[in-house]
Amino acid sequence: MAPSILVQRILHTRVKHHLARFLPASLLATLAQLLLIPERFLLATTYHAELAHLYGSPHPHGRLLSTQFSFHLCPACVADTRLLKRTLMWPHLHYCPLHHIELRNTCQCGGALWPFSGRASPFTCFACGLDWGALPQRQTPRTRQKRERQLGLFYDYFLDEGTPRRMEYAVEILRRHEKEVSMLSWSEHPDVIPYRAKFSLGYLVGRLVQAGVAPRDVLPYW
Ligand SMILES: [Zn+2]
Ligand SMILES: [Zn+2]
Repeated sequence: MAPSILVQRILHTRVKHHLARFLPASLLATLAQLLLIPERFLLATTYHAELAHLYGSPHPHGRLLSTQFSFHLCPACVADTRLLKRTLMWPHLHYCPLHHIELRNTCQCGGALWPFSGRASPFTCFACGLDWGALPQRQTPRTRQKRERQLGLFYDYFLDEGTPRRMEYAVEILRRHEKEVSMLSWSEHPDVIPYRAKFSLGYLVGRLVQAGVAPRDVLPYW
């Protein structure tokens, strides 16, 4: 079997069931061998290194970024560069941070978009054949702009500069903020954030933005 067909078959039959947790390390190694490229090239398309730094773990699980995965894409990114950027994995984001247009998970024909359908050419709808780059582009509504910007700034900060200590600091800021808003005493205040538990980055960022905490509020003083 030709390598490309084999890769496609592996992606179709196995990756499909693993995408929610990212590619398992053994599959990444297999894929790197089949593609004849160093494994680090594949890892560079993920947030493996960033999550390892953020959680202080050499083998971070993909669920530390998000416990859920839903595929969506930016039509302008596809049209311009034929790339599915890793920022598409950022939870809670609904608009492309670069083009500020809506991320799409369905085609105009109503068909769900999926990266490895095996029944269509890359970057096209498997149902009607439409090029993903030709999908309609809807600008970020004014009412959503601030929320999307805050989400992007938090992900940039934690993935570029995050450490376990900085994450704990952000959790503490969030706990204090929520306690203040609730006007309850510490003993009355429910323990809403699992302390020292390994919750996902998506969960923390979602809670921070929902609570109205700004990215500058969690910047450490050290
Ligand atoms: Zn884009
Ligand atoms: Zn379609």
